[in-house]
Amino acid sequence: MTHSILVVEDEVKLAQFIELELKYEGYQVSVANDGLTGLTAARESHPDLVILDWMLPGISGLEICRRLRTTGDKVPIILLTAKDEVSDRVAGLDAGADDYVVKPFSVEELLARVRAHLRRNQEDDPNILQFSDLSLNRSTREVYRGNRLIELTAKEFDLLEYLLTHPRQVLTRDQILERVWGYDFMGDSNIIEVYVRYLRLKLEADGEKRLVQTVRGVGYVLRE
Ligand code: CA
Repeated sequence: MTHSILVVEDEVKLAQFIELELKYEGYQVSVANDGLTGLTAARESHPDLVILDWMLPGISGLEICRRLRTTGDKVPIILLTAKDEVSDRVAGLDAGADDYVVKPFSVEELLARVRAHLRRNQEDDPNILQFSDLSLNRSTREVYRGNRLIELTAKEFDLLEYLLTHPRQVLTRDQILERVWGYDFMGDSNIIEVYVRYLRLKLEADGEKRLVQTVRGVGYVLRE
């Protein structure tokens, strides 16, 4: 799943450095160099996470945080701050930031925080089903294996969604047929084998390990 991250930082070189590092990790990145542009970008482009410098020309990072939270925006926000007084940290968290990183910071530390907050946010989203490196978004109907977007037909998607809602549970052929094709399905029940084969071809196109396993004489299970 490709996540989008907004970086609001007025030190142009630092902003570029963070942008490059995030892009290298596979994130989609946009950058704003002042407070107002940053606030507008956060409201209009709905990023999955915001990295926000505290001291910005125009509107401060703290104020951006407050304004986003006032309008109910729950995007994870990591504050970058050169201030490292305890009271300043408390002010940042009071304003609605989820985390803060004190400058100068190591890029590994920032990336670790980014990963942690994106993961937490994703676990809270009931539209996203995950298993191993597989993720399926019910609202956008996008499926990813790691960072690879996988194109599925409607039935392949339904089949995978059903498996993902019952990880590690053996689903019988009858259960799959009823749930994915409907009670009144009159066709050949080999249809399941055919679709499982299509699904595996797509899920394993880059040589990834098999996740949809056959349970001989019974049905299928999503298992590593
Ligand atoms: Ca600054």
